[in-house]
Amino acid sequence: MESIYQKLLVLAERESRPLKAHVELTRRCNERCVHCNVGTYFDENALSLGEWQRVFQQLHDAGAMFLTISGGEATLHPKFREVMRSATSYPMLVSMITNATNIDDDLADFLAEIRINVVFVSVYGATAETHDAVTRLPGSFAKTWRGIRNLVSRGVTVDTNVMALAENVHEIDALLDLARREGTTPRVSASLNPMIRGKHQGSKIRSCADFNQLCDSLDADLVATLRRHENREDALNSRTCSAGISLISILHNGDIQPCSEMPLPVGNVRTDDVAEVWSESGVLKRLRTTTVGSIEKCSPCGAVEYCTRCPGASLLETGDVHTPHEDACETAFTAKSAFERIAAKQ
Ligand code: SF4
Ligand code: SF4
Repeated sequence: MESIYQKLLVLAERESRPLKAHVELTRRCNERCVHCNVGTYFDENALSLGEWQRVFQQLHDAGAMFLTISGGEATLHPKFREVMRSATSYPMLVSMITNATNIDDDLADFLAEIRINVVFVSVYGATAETHDAVTRLPGSFAKTWRGIRNLVSRGVTVDTNVMALAENVHEIDALLDLARREGTTPRVSASLNPMIRGKHQGSKIRSCADFNQLCDSLDADLVATLRRHENREDALNSRTCSAGISLISILHNGDIQPCSEMPLPVGNVRTDDVAEVWSESGVLKRLRTTTVGSIEKCSPCGAVEYCTRCPGASLLETGDVHTPHEDACETAFTAKSAFERIAAKQ
């Protein structure tokens, strides 16, 4: 049965509304994760508190109902609490993405008080050794789980994102157990070659053997999620993701992008109105009309039901949003064979 959220998404796509907004408050981060290439770790031309207040008003006026605040590490923003108070003063469900290392009792009280919808936290290992080797911040495992416990004990919903990497593939099972034991809802994201902001990273699920090892350690429900579409026709008629279709992103400097991972500015909140950009941008219009089947190299693909192509990664790898990228193809075909192998055993 379709959830209310799914129904709203269908409606948003039909009416072309930016139902979901993603706001990157800052590029600063206290971790140096091996798979991440945020890279600059400082903010240039950052929006002021007053400018963020206007952004939230514009997003609400344009039809946004779900707002996700992220960074970098969002809690490092010098006016983090004021910005969050402003965001939550609108009738939007406000969630945030954080590494949780800064969430002490006081900040957890604050987030519970403003009724944050969901806090998403990435976790990288079942042990401090593995987790800290990925974040390259000694002590981060302890701090992250302290932050998560502070939130869960106050009734805040925490979803954990388990990013499968070569460094942790051997302990995914234990990590999923830990995440469930601590009262969070875990989700696994697996990609053979994670790419963030355009560069292949040093840390990868490097081989099909690693990927198969990962699949063997997941329960049947999680393996089932490798197939994103029930059949080929649905997959070909789908659009890859919601960027520019029901999702809009605002960066720390006010740039408006279809997605924070798609460096294709279509305006800037200092000079443009979000609703106008949303309805007038040619880039956004093209994203809305491009189905997977309309992409020449994707229409004959044999793994289209398993594809997790990221148009942002396509842009960074090939210079073209509407084309395959290497990681997507490698991952889709490996996921297909793992899914079929595990399904045959059941
Ligand atoms: S698939 Fe890529 S472009 Fe689309 S929403 Fe996800 S990160 Fe953004
Ligand atoms: S696996 Fe590659 S070719 Fe197939 S649909 Fe995905 S991006 Fe296109």
